Amino acid sequence: MKRRQLLERIQNEHEFDVIVLGGGINGACLYDTLCRQGYKTLLLEKNDFSSGTSQSSGMMIWGGLLYLRNLDLASVIELSFSRDQLIQQKAQWLAPEMMRYLPSSGSGRAKWWVHSGLWLYWMLGMGRRRHPRSENHFVEKELLKPGLVNGSLTYEEAFLAHSDARFVYRWMAPHRCAGQMVLNHCNHSGVFSAKDKSWHLDVEDEIAGRHCQVRAKMIVNCAGVWTDQVNAAFEINSPFRHVFSKGVYLGIPRAEQHQASLFFELGEHDDVVTFVPWGPISLWGPTETAVPDISEGLMASRQDVDYLLEHYARRFREPISRADIVSVRCGIRPLVVDSQYQESCYPLDLSRRQEVIQHKTLPWISCYGGKITGCTRMASKALKLINKAVSATAQSYGADDAWEAALTQMEFPGLSQKVPTATWCAQHELCCTLEDYLRRRTNIAQWIPRGGLGGNDANAQALKNIALDLAHGDPMSAAQLFETYRRKVIDHLDALLANN
Ligand SMILES: Cc1cc2nc3c(=O)[nH]c(=O)nc-3n(C[C@H](O)[C@H](O)[C@H](O)COP(=O)(O)OP(=O)(O)OC[C@H]3O[C@@H](n4cnc5c(N)ncnc54)[C@H](O)[C@@H]3O)c2cc1C
Repeated sequence: MKRRQLLERIQNEHEFDVIVLGGGINGACLYDTLCRQGYKTLLLEKNDFSSGTSQSSGMMIWGGLLYLRNLDLASVIELSFSRDQLIQQKAQWLAPEMMRYLPSSGSGRAKWWVHSGLWLYWMLGMGRRRHPRSENHFVEKELLKPGLVNGSLTYEEAFLAHSDARFVYRWMAPHRCAGQMVLNHCNHSGVFSAKDKSWHLDVEDEIAGRHCQVRAKMIVNCAGVWTDQVNAAFEINSPFRHVFSKGVYLGIPRAEQHQASLFFELGEHDDVVTFVPWGPISLWGPTETAVPDISEGLMASRQDVDYLLEHYARRFREPISRADIVSVRCGIRPLVVDSQYQESCYPLDLSRRQEVIQHKTLPWISCYGGKITGCTRMASKALKLINKAVSATAQSYGADDAWEAALTQMEFPGLSQKVPTATWCAQHELCCTLEDYLRRRTNIAQWIPRGGLGGNDANAQALKNIALDLAHGDPMSAAQLFETYRRKVIDHLDALLANN
């Protein structure tokens, strides 16, 4: 649906059962759950869908092997269950994949210890995946320094088919019935009225500058690392809060031999570092750095890049430099703690649990923590609370699960895979800016250097054509979209990867 029509619909159908704040994986999956249950639901996203942590993950749907380190068996059992449920129910969105753990030949966990841990992991997942195996010969070994690892151990997880950002969008897209809408790039503010027991929100669309008023019986705060900020804005208190851990990946050109995701011992904090094949690139990372506030975790720093390059050089025959880096991903993990929590520790020592809590007196639910893998579990916890407080009132709620059938695709210079056209994304996926398109509706910004611009702005004309499609043929707006994007690439990515 075009944005203009959507705004008109929101203005006309302004009464909802539930408003979901935040269009990352947790908001999107909850929106899908509510729509399928017949709730009139509005999802509001302040930037673009998936523009928070959900666009910067490792894209693994996994049982949380690493959390065995903390004996966090509850998280492993829950995540393994969610992983296997997603594999079963969303076969077109993700696929099982063998992962390769590489025990170090020097210090680090002994191979027999890791092997035993993988069997325990497999059993905690009720043996639903292929069992672990030892493999001494594997193709990626050619890329590694001789004598670095002591064979390999394989085990099965799953990996997202296209990207994490597209995974998020796919949960929301099928729902177009009356009273079911999502809106990105919007601001909101509001209050609870005891008179009609409803929340009243003023919504401002940042793209068209339009305002509208909406009403709902319940609000669910799915704002990820911004959950506490959103709660504060609505004067909601909570027994939980988030602490933040910044995670950075480097995207580098993928070698032919790179077939499976590799897990190396990091050699610090009992952690691992991964090497994940993704289309034409390999992702190297992530870092795990506690940051005191969100603003310090939003962008990768030169230290993050140096740290990852140094760890890369220790393990691979051919070191890489800043000039080889195709893209950088940076996100903040939302880690839930009790509101009184004061300690500081290595973030991996904290449980990756999730908490869904309803306010004592107001119809307001806050979602904390969690992972992409656990999204359906988070949604069903929220649904249970919503069911008790609000009845579903949508007249019809069929989902259009074939919404992508008419998707139009095009080629982009340097990519062998086709990408959705900008016209399709503008008309059907609420895609407004070049960053929405290049970073989240497609993987161009991740797979082509300089956010898709290419060296020496080689793809400038291609990006200008895309901007014209996004701007519905208006040359002034298209030029502005292009310049805003190019400036961001120069100021952030070029500056980060410059040699001095
Ligand atoms: C480096 C890294 C690697 C990871 N790898 C994996 C992995 O491999 N597998 C896995 O399962 N998990 C992984 N995770 C964890 C996972 O990515 C996150 O837990 C998950 O994406 C969080 O989703 P969310 O919806 O809670 O938050 P977000 O994705 O951040 O979504 C919150 C949204 O709320 C919006 N928002 C903020 N304020 C407002 C407001 N006032 N109104 C409306 N909207 C608002 C934001 O713009 C944002 O889009 C990884 C995380 C990191 C950082």
